[in-house]
Amino acid sequence: MERHGSFVLQGNIIYTPDKDHFITLKNGYIVVEEGRISAICATKPAAAAALPLKDCRGKLIMPGFADLHLHAPQYIQIGMGMDDQLLDWLNRYTFKEEPKFADPDYARQIYPLLAEELADCGTTSASIFATIHPESTDILCDILAQKGLRTYVGKVNMDNNSAPALTEDTAQSLSDTEAFIKKWHKHPLVKPIITPRFVPSVTAGMMTGLGKLVREYNVPVQSHLSENKGEIQLVKELFPEDQYYMSVYDRFDLFGTTPTLMAHCIHLSEEEIAIMARKDVYAVHCPASNLNLASGLMPLRRMLDAGVKVVLGSDIGGGHTLFIPHEIVRAIEISKIRSIDHPEEAPLKLCEAFYLATKAGGSFFGQTGSLEPDYSADFLVVTLPIFQQDRTIEEQLQYFIYHGRAQDIEDVYVQGRPVKHTDKPAV
Ligand SMILES: [Zn+2]
Repeated sequence: MERHGSFVLQGNIIYTPDKDHFITLKNGYIVVEEGRISAICATKPAAAAALPLKDCRGKLIMPGFADLHLHAPQYIQIGMGMDDQLLDWLNRYTFKEEPKFADPDYARQIYPLLAEELADCGTTSASIFATIHPESTDILCDILAQKGLRTYVGKVNMDNNSAPALTEDTAQSLSDTEAFIKKWHKHPLVKPIITPRFVPSVTAGMMTGLGKLVREYNVPVQSHLSENKGEIQLVKELFPEDQYYMSVYDRFDLFGTTPTLMAHCIHLSEEEIAIMARKDVYAVHCPASNLNLASGLMPLRRMLDAGVKVVLGSDIGGGHTLFIPHEIVRAIEISKIRSIDHPEEAPLKLCEAFYLATKAGGSFFGQTGSLEPDYSADFLVVTLPIFQQDRTIEEQLQYFIYHGRAQDIEDVYVQGRPVKHTDKPAV
């Protein structure tokens, strides 16, 4: 009888133990016991005798993708307003759409579509902004938990410079956030993350309260940093006493006191990059969004060389796709464009970009994002066309990343449980 989340899979295994190279195993075996990977072997392991064997020969088995920055309510505005830059786009679209999530029924209607598409695209881990609304945020968490996706979810905090319908009372926002943390912080898959929208949207009072929650409950933090030049100027005007944009978060214990994700990080000085590395703050690169909103080209190679942890995010609706392979390609393309004027910044290699989207991103959640013993069994089975069968596994992955589609992802597992399953006959 099948033990829960225990089985053996045979297929073309590929993963990146570090950013500089792939490990591949043709028709190798991956042994999953109680939701964790217990072994990766070239020959049939003894354990396979006692466990069900799934035949995926000729298909790719790779870690699931980690999407470290996306806005759940913006699922309904993907592709809209792409002629604008950040601040106009927020005012013209986002701040008009997000108030709709004050209605829990609306959240119940929209959020299952997002959870479904994340799983379809092979995203097994994600860090998500909800809205300011506690009830809708709980609904999002329930839906993600039911779907079985590994996620951090933030109830967004906003009490400054926002549309009236999105401007919270500071004390109420903090008590709603505390209640949200208490409700979710022991859940095995869906966990709370402190989420001030960005510096312009929060007062010093709000950040003081959020910093207190960070210390008291030891919860991580996510926000935005240095995405757009107009935004940076606004932060300077609002907090003139702080040396850098990041100094504002830092002053309130929202910058590396606990694990911290900062989306974008485009316009940073060498000193700011060094501070991020020293404080172990993750920079979430969102290539599609940065291009769509003409925000800028992140200096990714400089950040990696400085020791900053860089990961990838779809940033829908600034970004227009949840399919992380597209972000992998765009990250490589942006690094190539930068290298034209900055020859000292070597373009990103595919194995590096794949690593950012899997093991590096997964590290924010614990042991996920690689196919190594003791890692959570969070992985994908990907079908390939017949004309790719004679290629090396690395070439097969290149094909999938550049030309694959979500439909090519046949199965998606989180903790050894299927979150997407397509019934196709074995090869
Ligand atoms: Zn964002």
